[in-house]
Amino acid sequence: MATNLLGLDAQGMQRLFAGLGEKPFRARQVLKWIHRRGAADFAAMTDIAKELRAKLARGAAIEPPLVVGDGTSADGTRKWLLKVDGANAVEAVFIPEAGRGTLCVSSQAGCTLDCAFCSTGKQGFNRNLSSAEILGQLWIANRALGCHQYGARAVGGGGRAISNVVFMGMGEPMMNLDNVIPALRLMLDDNGYGLSRRRVTVSTSGVVPGMDRLAEECPVALAVSLHAPDDALRDRLVPINRKYPMRQLIAACNRYLKRAPRDFITFEYVMLDGVNDSDDQARGLLGVAARVRCKFNLIPFNPFANSGFKRSGPERIRRFAEVLQRAGLTVTTRRTRGDEIDAACGQLAGDVADRTRRSRTVRISELRA
Ligand code: SAH
Ligand code: SF4
Repeated sequence: MATNLLGLDAQGMQRLFAGLGEKPFRARQVLKWIHRRGAADFAAMTDIAKELRAKLARGAAIEPPLVVGDGTSADGTRKWLLKVDGANAVEAVFIPEAGRGTLCVSSQAGCTLDCAFCSTGKQGFNRNLSSAEILGQLWIANRALGCHQYGARAVGGGGRAISNVVFMGMGEPMMNLDNVIPALRLMLDDNGYGLSRRRVTVSTSGVVPGMDRLAEECPVALAVSLHAPDDALRDRLVPINRKYPMRQLIAACNRYLKRAPRDFITFEYVMLDGVNDSDDQARGLLGVAARVRCKFNLIPFNPFANSGFKRSGPERIRRFAEVLQRAGLTVTTRRTRGDEIDAACGQLAGDVADRTRRSRTVRISELRA
């Protein structure tokens, strides 16, 4: 099978070129063509000798996932449904805001961790995405937004529409670091997308060994899905807590901060009506905040069919935020975006052939209906 160059970071590309008897600078040239200029085939690479282009065309390919859905909502949020193989599709979402553009990417087809309020979790799990499938989401979005090197529309720095990437789509990135790390390296590489470490955020439900590995191998900004002030409730909402309880999680956050590009962890907290949104529970979070430098991001729950949860009301969310703010904490409340296209956090469904038999599989055709 041809090697898919989309997922090779600088080191991987150099190794491939060394195998072909080619110099390292050729590998860098090809990286730039693919990621900075968005080249989709070798013929476009005009400053590379014809013989080398022919050699590459024989043994390698630039193969992004197939775009099978592409919708934009009234607020400008745009969502792509990407088919990664015969049985699975995942989603990527672009969120434009004043002065920045954020791409939310998926790391797995489904998720094994089964958080109680998450639609991805409810779909079950099929497989890890390859580094090409992860990076391919950024490559596709960049091209679709017309923002490779010579593109026009740009809001972020460096002439690009996408200034930030967050791993908050489908899947748990820490369960797929073998593929997430090369994709991260390409996002950060100057010959790739040149994003700053502070503008690339990995979100985890608290997979402690993964946090340690990421800190070691490719530290970027970290968001942790906390969602509860204590183990009893977190065990129910985020089942991985039974394996890595909050004491271990907080210790891992503090280890991560020693290597992180930012000096705080962002705790995500989904606001579930009557479940985790009381003033008492907000005060419970102050105990957590006393043990690790952090900010809170409150996410109004995004409902989906048969979830069994309701979103907290706006006044309750405001009061909850106020308890934290009065104690001196920084709190943001996420605006819900892309409602009409189901592009909000935790609503990304894709199309996963569940191997865990957790639920009925959602087919692409149903999603489009
Ligand atoms: N697996 C990782 C990253 C993907 S989920 C994680 O759990 O952190 C990204 C964020 O969306 C997480 O904070 C997750 O808890 C939250 N989320 C999941 N389902 C949601 C829903 N229905 N409404 C709002 N947020 C949700
Ligand atoms: Fe997986 Fe994150 Fe959803 Fe939990 S919230 S099931 S870890 S994708």
